Amino acid sequence: MPELVFFSGTMDCGKSTLALQIEHNRSARGLQGLIFTRDDRAGEGKLSSRLGLVTEAIEAGADLDLYAHLVGHLSAGGRADYVIADEAQFLAPVQIDQLARVVDDLDIDVFAFGITTDFRSKLFPGSQRLVELADRIETLQVEALCWCGARATHNARTVGGEMVVEGAQVVVGDVGLSGAETGYEVLCRRHHRRRMTSAAARAAALSPDVLPVDRGERAAVSGPFAAD
Ligand SMILES: [Zn+2]
Repeated sequence: MPELVFFSGTMDCGKSTLALQIEHNRSARGLQGLIFTRDDRAGEGKLSSRLGLVTEAIEAGADLDLYAHLVGHLSAGGRADYVIADEAQFLAPVQIDQLARVVDDLDIDVFAFGITTDFRSKLFPGSQRLVELADRIETLQVEALCWCGARATHNARTVGGEMVVEGAQVVVGDVGLSGAETGYEVLCRRHHRRRMTSAAARAAALSPDVLPVDRGERAAVSGPFAAD
């Protein structure tokens, strides 16, 4: 039975790398797939991974009907044994419905990859629809780590290293940016709640006097940047 599978995780957890690996394994077996992506860091019409791999993809803009695109591709004599949709959190809910229809009406496997929640720990609309419709949800096992060493489950948006909690849901940026740029950092829930990025933890470790005396807060900086 064909399936709609949602591979979910935080930023930096290897989603695009796994998407590329699935593509490689299947094309090595003579299968042909269609790859959709949206706003990939490598630019329009690309699926790239942080490990440096990149492949061509179809840019799934807001107006693209994914189901109609598949039907058109097949009608024109094209082949599609499977579909990969990367950055699926950026797809509109209606486009996720179109992917479900690809599975049900065209009998094609669809593998969607996406970040579950945004920088305020709210579901992206595309990810919410995937949670509602997917036959199967796989939480990626290559886990990203918080600066404290705990499993990173949340995405923080940073400006100049400081975590921000206001702003548009989608702002292009990447992990590991510094300066005044908008960047992202993956954190454990504890440090996301406390808005303690690695830069904030480092600053706190350098000036122990300003640390709150609360034990929990001290425990929060007992990671690699602890002062004592
Ligand atoms: Zn942490």
